[in-house]
Amino acid sequence: MSNWIQADQDYVWHPYSAMHSEQPTYPISHANGCMLTLEDGRQLVDGMSSWWCTIHGYNHPVLNQAIQTQLQSMAHVMFGGLTHKPAATLAQKLVELTPEGLQSVFFSDSGSVAVEVALKMAIQYWHSQNFPNKQQFLTVRQGYHGDTFAAMSVCDPITGMHSLFKDSLQRQFFAPAPKTPFGEPLVSDDLTELTQLLEAHHSTIAAVIIEPIVQGAGGMRFYSAEYLSALKQLCEKHQVLLIADEIATGFGRTGKLFACEHASITPDIMTIGKAITGGYMTFAATLTTAHISDSIDQAKPGVFMHGPTFMANPLACATAIASIDLLLSSPWQNNIIRIEQQLKQQLNVCADLACVENVRVLGAIGVVECKHAVNMAVIQDLLVQQGVWIRPFGKLIYLMPPFIISQEELSQLTMAIHAVLKQSVANIFIN
Ligand SMILES: *Cc1c(COP(=O)(O)O)cnc(C)c1O
Repeated sequence: MSNWIQADQDYVWHPYSAMHSEQPTYPISHANGCMLTLEDGRQLVDGMSSWWCTIHGYNHPVLNQAIQTQLQSMAHVMFGGLTHKPAATLAQKLVELTPEGLQSVFFSDSGSVAVEVALKMAIQYWHSQNFPNKQQFLTVRQGYHGDTFAAMSVCDPITGMHSLFKDSLQRQFFAPAPKTPFGEPLVSDDLTELTQLLEAHHSTIAAVIIEPIVQGAGGMRFYSAEYLSALKQLCEKHQVLLIADEIATGFGRTGKLFACEHASITPDIMTIGKAITGGYMTFAATLTTAHISDSIDQAKPGVFMHGPTFMANPLACATAIASIDLLLSSPWQNNIIRIEQQLKQQLNVCADLACVENVRVLGAIGVVECKHAVNMAVIQDLLVQQGVWIRPFGKLIYLMPPFIISQEELSQLTMAIHAVLKQSVANIFIN
């Protein structure tokens, strides 16, 4: 075994893993387009876009060029007291592209931090409006907003393992997950409990935080746009801000540039991340309205209390500008429609398998929900044997491929899922 692979096993933690895990981690050598090449030479079609990020595929010449050009002038500089063209240009672009009314941009280094910033913004806003008791948050079950402490406090209590951290986590309010499916008229009692919570506790609630339309890492659920617009109205009625966490959905994944567009709403605060640099750099942003930033400016202490070391990193800003321009100059809507139609056609055959509970597709997201949780060690290896990189979690086997994926590559992904589930190897599920 190569020295570095041994070093990985000896010293490196991987996401949500044991230090010395029974499950394999596959050494990867390089990636190009939609193809990952392992150290042993095997090639895998990427169905994950490296967790929603790599929308243009890997090793893209335009993004490579953007980062190299920026590197010639400066890799990084502190953002306190200094500014640069990539940050200002990107901020202007984001204001133009995001829902009307979002005007003030705070850059940070990851999605979780963007969520922390959003929560702090909401609290500071209400403080500036003389509502210092509004310090808590309301959210829905089966949500995911990141792994730092405040972000974790608004993740689903079960999948977020709140019991492990129960005395360190801020207690928040949880309403049931939205149950009206995407594309359907609102089920009449879908917001009943949420409304009751708002009525009873609005004086201590700063904001509702929710992933618009798609609940991602908390369950890959797609819910009705009518739910989102009704929620926006409820927030206004009860003087509570709405934070839309677009970190997974932003930049086209659901068929709209931002998922809030499905409901034609402007949230008070919006977080974006993941695909913002096309999967090149760790980067995120929190946007809000002029009303909120002005209010924070005008009250004591007159400043917004956050400032990461790597705020507005120029390499990340330059890559984000190039990635957004690349997206907008591509036929991305057609790509998403093409992927959606193919996913619907090809994943539907899985619905007939006895082990499958449900198949659902929205935009460039395809989900096969099984009846039991998958045995990761077994299924991961079977999928790799099929020549695909798909990383299931719990009962969910899902695809969110790069937007540039070819018809053949996408077929390889969907056929691999069907082939693996059809084999019904005895230990493919945990129970
Ligand atoms: C991934 C994700 C986050 C966290 O982003 P990181 O960059 O992993 O910190 C937050 N919210 C949503 C909706 C996400 O999908």
